Amino acid sequence: MEKPYIEIKKVTIIRKYNPNYGDGRICKCGHTYYRHFDSCEDNYPCGCKYCGCYDFEEINQQKNKIIEESEILLVKELIDKIRVFLSDYVPSPGPFFKWSNEYYEATEVLLKEITKIENKLNI
Ligand SMILES: [Zn+2]
Ligand SMILES: [Zn+2]
Repeated sequence: MEKPYIEIKKVTIIRKYNPNYGDGRICKCGHTYYRHFDSCEDNYPCGCKYCGCYDFEEINQQKNKIIEESEILLVKELIDKIRVFLSDYVPSPGPFFKWSNEYYEATEVLLKEITKIENKLNI
């Protein structure tokens, strides 16, 4: 039988404070989880009190130590200098430079370490 009205169920999602989440967890905005709620208003999710960030999004501790662009440039510069130094002053190994094989190996190790740093910093 036909009903006089078509009924549609409406779902409302309400965001609520989760006491088990961890008050001290750090958001992308740099402030703690509990700062994103209003303790005077039954922990209403009003957003961060310090900066107005509305969506709490956890940042992991590693990312929290974001290296400034200028610091990366300094490291890049230093790495370039080291590379130039190594290519200018450390002789290649060969039959006439047997005495320098040790230095050459040390250079290889150093270059590998530099590559590791570059990959880590994504430069
Ligand atoms: Zn935030
Ligand atoms: Zn904030």
